[in-house]
Amino acid sequence: MTSFLPFALPDIGQEEIQEVVETLESGWITTGPRVRRFEKEFAGVLGGGVEMVAVNSATAGLHLALEALGIGPGDEVIVPTLTFTATAEVVRYLGADPVFVDVDPATFNLPQESIERNLSERTKAVIPVHFAGMACDIHAIIDIARKHGLKVVEDAAHALPTRVGESLVGTLESDATVFSFYATKTMTTGEGGMIATRHKWVADRCRIMRLHGINRDVFDRYVSRRPSWFYEVVAPGFKYNMTDLAAAIGIHQLSKMERFRQRRMEIAMRYDEAFEALPLRLPPHPANKDEHAWHLYVIRLAEDASVTREDFIDAMARLGVGCSVHFIPLHRHPYWREKYQLSKEDFPVAEAIYSRCVSLPIYSRMSDSDIEKVIEAVRGILA
Ligand SMILES: *Cc1c(COP(=O)(O)O)cnc(C)c1O
Repeated sequence: MTSFLPFALPDIGQEEIQEVVETLESGWITTGPRVRRFEKEFAGVLGGGVEMVAVNSATAGLHLALEALGIGPGDEVIVPTLTFTATAEVVRYLGADPVFVDVDPATFNLPQESIERNLSERTKAVIPVHFAGMACDIHAIIDIARKHGLKVVEDAAHALPTRVGESLVGTLESDATVFSFYATKTMTTGEGGMIATRHKWVADRCRIMRLHGINRDVFDRYVSRRPSWFYEVVAPGFKYNMTDLAAAIGIHQLSKMERFRQRRMEIAMRYDEAFEALPLRLPPHPANKDEHAWHLYVIRLAEDASVTREDFIDAMARLGVGCSVHFIPLHRHPYWREKYQLSKEDFPVAEAIYSRCVSLPIYSRMSDSDIEKVIEAVRGILA
């Protein structure tokens, strides 16, 4: 019991390190050839002929996608309350208002019925989140959204790779999908994100807006025959471009993405088996053959468990295992609660999940003995 097992750790190999060194030595460290290569290879891995726009975070990607889709002041966007604040804050960036909905008790995802129940004249879009990496009922959500003329932007920060039927999330019929490469996500570039979209016009707008609203990126100015000093500003854009240093990491993480998922799935199966008889509820599994990304492994302590959630996490830490909570629902945070007069009573499912949920470590760098250490700790506290 000497070393502490952190809740999450990135899985970075020699390939990433070597590529970063080569990038540093190349003289081109901001958006350039490696970002282009990363976007192209990402599109190849996802398939489905979608366009890719690399950015410096998923938050930036969600903002750009909503902006490109025309979301603006006074509009309403439906979001689940059980998510990270980024899902909703980007709506505020545009002067629009998030409308918070409770989640489904069986999947922790946004229930499609909640869309029609929360519809108003102002509703323009919905942002479903694939919680923990398990796909929401995305086809049903898209059908309902289409019926009411709403845009759909998938928050796929956890869903890489998640398969719905034969297709990976990112290649479905929504208007845009956004992935995160934050340090704790299923693959990382340190900080980073990717917008996937089947609309060329959305991709074009995002490419312009990620770099100051300039209609030509610096690398294009560097390599093309047109005079390199000339560019035009066509909109007041943002500074959201991904660097080649980040893409250097991403290129190699991408090639390991499926192996990382296999390992996380093994860990999930091992946990499921080990915890079956304990006073807790196992995480939901996809009802059909969809492939879970297993970004998170979220248990819920039983009502009659001998410890509270807080005491459980403290005890795990004393036994050398880091845990986390996903998520403190947005309706509990002061800004959202006060701005939109939200009350806990309106979110009974998220409240029930939140009061008893714990996220256990699940990442590819965990060794077999790390997995056993987590299992022993959970058993020691609950059995
Ligand atoms: C991590 C996360 C984000 C934000 O990703 P960044 O790349 O850090 O901006 C958005 N939504 C969800 C659900 C997340 O977990």
